[in-house]
Amino acid sequence: MREHAPVTVTPEEQAEQRAYMEKVRELPHRPTSYYVVTYGCQMNAHDSEKLAGMLSEMGMTEASSREQADLVLFNTCCVRDNAERRALGNVTWLKELKKDKPELIIGVCGCMIQQPGMAEKILRQYKFIDLAFGTSNLHRLPQLLYEELESARPVVEVDATENLIAEGLPVKRLRPDHAYITIMYGCDNFCSYCIVPYVRGRERSREADAIIREAEALYAGGVKEIMLLGQNVNSYGKGLEGGVSFAGLLRQLDAIGIPRIRFMTSHPKDLSQELIEAMGECKHVCPQFHLPVQSGNDGILRAMNRHYDRAAYLDKVARLRKAVPGIGLTTDIIVGFPGETEEQFQDTLSLVREVGYDSAFTFIFSPRPGTRAAAMPDQVPADVAQDRLERLLQVQEAAQLQAQRRFLDAQEEVLVESLSRRSAQAVSGKGLHGISVTFPGSLRDVGEIVPVRITECANNTLRGERLDKEKE
Ligand code: SF4
Repeated sequence: MREHAPVTVTPEEQAEQRAYMEKVRELPHRPTSYYVVTYGCQMNAHDSEKLAGMLSEMGMTEASSREQADLVLFNTCCVRDNAERRALGNVTWLKELKKDKPELIIGVCGCMIQQPGMAEKILRQYKFIDLAFGTSNLHRLPQLLYEELESARPVVEVDATENLIAEGLPVKRLRPDHAYITIMYGCDNFCSYCIVPYVRGRERSREADAIIREAEALYAGGVKEIMLLGQNVNSYGKGLEGGVSFAGLLRQLDAIGIPRIRFMTSHPKDLSQELIEAMGECKHVCPQFHLPVQSGNDGILRAMNRHYDRAAYLDKVARLRKAVPGIGLTTDIIVGFPGETEEQFQDTLSLVREVGYDSAFTFIFSPRPGTRAAAMPDQVPADVAQDRLERLLQVQEAAQLQAQRRFLDAQEEVLVESLSRRSAQAVSGKGLHGISVTFPGSLRDVGEIVPVRITECANNTLRGERLDKEKE
């Protein structure tokens, strides 16, 4: 057995939680509606779908707003300071609501709570919170809620078991045509700025068979796109018997026939040639790759503990582009990392110009207590970091516009997500390359894959005209 062998939640424990769902359902004073507020990444968005799934099974319906709900659950993130502050600000706001509605149940869960000592601290400071539980305890929501309802006292549970895999939870998906599938949990990389390994635990992969079964069931249920999730999907399979790699898993999923397969997030150091080849060969894997670079400077990458340098990163970008011509590339970048000089920042700008990303998530370094970078000397002043962020955004915007010209006059297959926010006569969705596309349409197109000819590149979105005959 390896040191951090994962533990799958036993069928007995799953059955116990199902029994608690029934018990909550039968309580006369149980809440009848819920609202889940989600912060952070797609992993959290999927966790919220599981929370919603369990709450629905307990007989509650989703409220249209937090003001309408009997139970409000905040699924928090702690990757950046402002995500934490926003969550706590919103929780405080609900305190007023609770004065008029004393039966309102307020819960806080997710990564912020999983930090050592945080749940106790929050409950001390925010006495109106009824429920607090960590990421490892998500599957125990039915029992925790039952205990809270029966005791009418705050219930807190933050388990230190960081190697848990919870299978078989009910999921209430946000969209019928699109589904998240978590393939692995946790992270072993300890990038020096990142809190994730401390709150999500060590890397552990789900069994390939369980993932394949889930994907097959989703496909049979009409899902057109799956998004495979993990903090570092490229190292999927480590520690599993049978030696399945992420590339191998992709090939197995590709054979099912789901029209679109996407995944995130990938660590550049674990991006193998085997995976690059699988990307080129799998018919249903979308030509899109999110490859967080974080910095274009070798010294900063070393201080970040990223285990690749600029040249190795660019080499992988070149190999991806060779295997999948026109591939959509996106990234994450941090500016103002401790000790970052203007010259080092210029390396990031030049890398952004060189790669030509289709989009980039850009952040100012946010020191997270307990991480190595938080204690590093030479923290960059806030005004300097802000100025770098603004200059980076300008360079990225120009590079992006240039990169997206390759789509002009080309055809994109767009899976329509919703009406456009700007016009009721237009719809928007994602093209195969992962870029938003807006084109004339109506609500009837939502959930359909529509061929579109791209006529215009605007910032962060492409515009086009449909190539099918619009539905009558
Ligand atoms: S790879 Fe690095 S940045 Fe990503 S979750 Fe792991 S430690 Fe955090």
